[in-house]
Amino acid sequence: MPLYEYRCLNCGKRSSFLRQIGDISIPACPHCGHSRLVRVISRVSVLRSEESRLEDLPAPHNFGDVDENDPKSMARWMKKMGQEMGEDLGPEFDEMVERMESGQSPEEIEESLGSQGDQPPS
Ligand SMILES: [Zn+2]
Repeated sequence: MPLYEYRCLNCGKRSSFLRQIGDISIPACPHCGHSRLVRVISRVSVLRSEESRLEDLPAPHNFGDVDENDPKSMARWMKKMGQEMGEDLGPEFDEMVERMESGQSPEEIEESLGSQGDQPPS
């Protein structure tokens, strides 16, 4: 399971969470209990030392462009993040991005993905 780092928009503290790939639900801040956390792309900055490349990334300082309540905005950001991570995030991730682009909320998608049961990876 990958470890994701989140930053709290309320108290500004960072926390790390183990998340399943495709799980995009937002955890609550362990420091203040606030639920407006944004994912910090720490792995990318570790992989790429050149600071110039960071301008292209959805880095914490421009997370303000992402509207968590707008699935399409989230989808764009997730897509970009997926590309920048250079990892195959799996068909569920692709499907989620696609469905968010069509305007479905992450909750709806999560629900319908969950109801499909645990299918073994093909
Ligand atoms: Zn907090």
